[in-house]
Amino acid sequence: MYTLPELPYGYDALDPYIDEETMKLHHDKHHAAYVKNLNDAIEKHPELAEKTAEELLLDLNSIPEDIRMTVRNNGGGHVNHSMFWQIMSPKSDSEPKGELADAISTSFGSFADFQKKFEETGLKRFGSGWVWLVKDKEGKLDIVSTANQDNPISDGLFPIMGNDVWEHAYYLKYKNMRADYLKAWWSVVNWSEAENRFEK
Ligand code: MN
Repeated sequence: MYTLPELPYGYDALDPYIDEETMKLHHDKHHAAYVKNLNDAIEKHPELAEKTAEELLLDLNSIPEDIRMTVRNNGGGHVNHSMFWQIMSPKSDSEPKGELADAISTSFGSFADFQKKFEETGLKRFGSGWVWLVKDKEGKLDIVSTANQDNPISDGLFPIMGNDVWEHAYYLKYKNMRADYLKAWWSVVNWSEAENRFEK
């Protein structure tokens, strides 16, 4: 059984950047639904229950066809949101430090250039999806966007951090102004968790 992880802070902890009602709905309804749907799908193929949700996404072609799309969408939703709660924090540092900071400067020119490209990529995602900072198998950084709940690990890329640009992540507070949400979101990024993931 896959389980809904608890939020590592209160629903109102990221206010005013992310409001309490959005956090409640996002965690208790949206993420909970991904977990339930994933469990329902795996019940039809109990031999898969030993795998972690990440393992399911690593090789989607090996998932039986009758549940493959459900696992892709809901396993992705579960993995993506489990990371999302961790890479945000009410005690955000404004910038990463150490090796991750160096790698961002090397790859994108500067932290400001990285932020600009990340925001642009998130803004350009048509419909629902995510914008990610990823590293490839050689450790090289890139910014990519995925549709729906697709996770970069299905493409051989490791997500260091990412922002949810589904309307459910921002619409109550930011309405149609996704660009404003993307800009405000920097105020809640947990860079020390992103550094941990980079060094993994
Ligand atoms: Mn979401």
